[in-house]
Amino acid sequence: MKHKSDIEIAQEAVIKPIREIAGQLDILEDEIEQYGKYKAKLSLDLLKRKQDAPDGKIILVTAINPTPAGEGKSTVTVGLGQALNLLGKKAVIAMREPSLGPTMGIKGGAAGGGYSQVIPMEDINLHFTGDLHAITAANNALSALLDNHIHQGNEKGIDPRRITWKRVMDLNDRALRNVIVGLGGPVNGTPREDHFDITVASEIMAILCLASGLDDLKKRLADIVVGFTYSKEPVTVGELGFQGALALLLKDALKPNLVQTLEHTPAIIHGGPFANIAHGCNSLLGTKMAAKLGDYVVTEAGFGADLGAEKFLHIKTRAGGFEPAAVVIVATVRALKMHGGVKKDQLQEPDKEAMLAGASNLAKHIESIQQFGLPYTVAINRFTSDADEEIEALLDWCAAHSHPAALSEVWEKGGAGGMELAEKVIQTIAENKNQFSHLYDLADSIEAKVEKVAKTVYGAKAVEFSSKAKKQLKEYDGYGWSNLPVCMAKTQYSLSDQPELIGRPEDFTLTIRELKPSIGAGFIVCLTGDIMTMPGLPKKPAALGMSVNADGKAAGLF
Ligand code: ADP
Repeated sequence: MKHKSDIEIAQEAVIKPIREIAGQLDILEDEIEQYGKYKAKLSLDLLKRKQDAPDGKIILVTAINPTPAGEGKSTVTVGLGQALNLLGKKAVIAMREPSLGPTMGIKGGAAGGGYSQVIPMEDINLHFTGDLHAITAANNALSALLDNHIHQGNEKGIDPRRITWKRVMDLNDRALRNVIVGLGGPVNGTPREDHFDITVASEIMAILCLASGLDDLKKRLADIVVGFTYSKEPVTVGELGFQGALALLLKDALKPNLVQTLEHTPAIIHGGPFANIAHGCNSLLGTKMAAKLGDYVVTEAGFGADLGAEKFLHIKTRAGGFEPAAVVIVATVRALKMHGGVKKDQLQEPDKEAMLAGASNLAKHIESIQQFGLPYTVAINRFTSDADEEIEALLDWCAAHSHPAALSEVWEKGGAGGMELAEKVIQTIAENKNQFSHLYDLADSIEAKVEKVAKTVYGAKAVEFSSKAKKQLKEYDGYGWSNLPVCMAKTQYSLSDQPELIGRPEDFTLTIRELKPSIGAGFIVCLTGDIMTMPGLPKKPAALGMSVNADGKAAGLF
């Protein structure tokens, strides 16, 4: 049977005016700002009004390491939210905004899939309410102001060779990774080497996602370190006086966006840092608002539990002063088979043995969540091509290891396909076995924090710091930055820093190539292996299949 594509399902959906969705929640007229009929921004006044209201339980959805077979974390997040609503619970979904980079490159869309999607999916996948453009503008305004400062006499003595601030663009554009700006003689500025990152890897994106309000946003912007002086002292945005203008450019982007799922479950979609090269979580304000509006919040952190969940648990919970009540770990038979060595073109063949071998990857992520002291449920995201015997074998494997598990058929059936999962998650939360604690203390050295994550979460044998990173460790300690959490930048495909090591690699050494201060965001970025902060496009980008018809209807967003 041929299934409808995500975009076909989304375009056939009955969508309710966003006012009606807001009406399902306790949102006042004055607290919603409509962006057309189906999208709205929510005023931060809502949080002030509800500051004494109890918070809903946060359910964090994470996954095994992604493979080309697909895991469907967003799909399960949306489906679980819908299932909770079908059970009569007040659930609000809190997700990230897609980036145009992967949309045009490989993903073709990131708003869930099948009958578990957020809509209007075309808008969400393209320009949505303009947040990513505002972040790009704020980031590049800072670059322009910085280059102008140098051009106009460089009062602060900034060393153009030691500028760490990069320009950004929300596209995969490898040609912009390394550029020279300021060419053309004295009237065109001071020539220097510059770089472009993808917007979702920028510190401004992280700041927007971790800020608790406008004042905190401004303070964090002021704390950004743009580079170093000739005498190697850090220079901040605050010293240059740019934070007010940057905050102004971001004032609307800071407000969370409200949309709905195919089944009209409210979804707050706000902020979109990648989990491999950034901290990978939707905004703190979005999550907090969802918790004030719903009894359950279903939220997702990017890629596998080694990346998004680790950073959710070490960075976001600290910034927000909250913790999840339970974790859902998504796995698919197909992806586990790939972790067990099956090639993509062989996935249609049932292969229990390979799947059980690949379950070692799932086992490692479960162990990590156990280390954090959090209750969890494994969600098996069923593809219609999965053989019954494979599903049974995976459920048996979970039972044999006493891992709570449920089959999820939310892609095919919407919320109705996630009832068992929803019931299990509710039960886990009711049992209240949460003993959450962080794996490292902020007072630990940067090296100790990295080692803790590498050994406990990735299963590394050792960590090696390059000579550049070693030098930076000393310098950062001198600047008083050692007490910040670490934000690991690592490939999503492997538990290690080597993408080809799938399954559960052991005995590997993790290499820290370089550190980067993200003082405004409040963490130190640790770049491992060959990870790049501006992705490139594949040979056949998803963009090749995209178009718009004469009525303005989008095609090709999968
Ligand atoms: P992730 O969040 O892990 O990147 P998504 O939920 O965005 O994954 O899903 C990626 C793609 O896989 C989407 O196009 C979605 O429709 C598809 N997909 C997800 N789950 C299933 C499933 N159970 N059966 C078929 N396709 C699926």
